[in-house]
Amino acid sequence: MEEVRGLVKALTKAEAPEAVADVLRALAKAPVTVPILHELKCGAVVSKLRKHENESVATEAKLLIKQWKGLAAAAGVPQTKAPAPAPKTHSFAVDDLGDPTRQAARKKLQATLGEDASDSDSFPAAEAVELALHRKWPNLQQPDQKRDYVAKLRQLSFNLKKNSELRSDVNSKRLTPEKLLELDADQLATREKQEERRKMAEYQHDARSLDWERKNRDRMDKSIGIDNSKTMYPCGKCKSTKVSNYEKQTRSGDEPMTQFFECADCGHRWRF
Ligand SMILES: [Zn+2]
Repeated sequence: MEEVRGLVKALTKAEAPEAVADVLRALAKAPVTVPILHELKCGAVVSKLRKHENESVATEAKLLIKQWKGLAAAAGVPQTKAPAPAPKTHSFAVDDLGDPTRQAARKKLQATLGEDASDSDSFPAAEAVELALHRKWPNLQQPDQKRDYVAKLRQLSFNLKKNSELRSDVNSKRLTPEKLLELDADQLATREKQEERRKMAEYQHDARSLDWERKNRDRMDKSIGIDNSKTMYPCGKCKSTKVSNYEKQTRSGDEPMTQFFECADCGHRWRF
């Protein structure tokens, strides 16, 4: 090691090309190892000499570098550093965002959005959605802003996880982050959920309008002398015959009307 150190020092001090070439030849015979070469930065000093105007210096330098590279290769050191494999998920430095809540939000959004999209799609999307959240609630030091930010984040990631259409709309930018933030719970829900809710609303509307229709019909029937309180269909619960009945087209037009019955005594309702 000391011998090599001395030679490297001599190399930097030597001025005459013949002296430089001599040192290079001496280095070629010196007992070097990769760690020694590395520590003394021999490669850096010698490789500069490969372009020396003196031909023999340049040649000796080239030979020496080749020799050392062979040494390094034999020691298992790759000659050129292979590019580091791209990380599977992007990491966000806390300093980048200035707030760990925002960093956690991006990670969470990316995990959700990345469910079936490639990382390259979900990363910018996660970033854009978080930025939109940040624009809406810029000061997370304020407890109410932080509460709203976190609540929206939870709602978004919950729905994005369940709703693959929503995910793909966000990842593909068909739905902008600003529009995403405007969606209410219904709009964020999955299509099946939306259908379920729509049916429920329809059913409730139907039930209300049937009630109204029945009352109305009873009133009209009475006004023209029809008493709906007497019926051929007695109540299945209390056997009372004070049963009102009315029909309604609930299915398609070519199917029979549905008959609705209500017992005036016990309130039991049925249909057929
Ligand atoms: Zn009854």
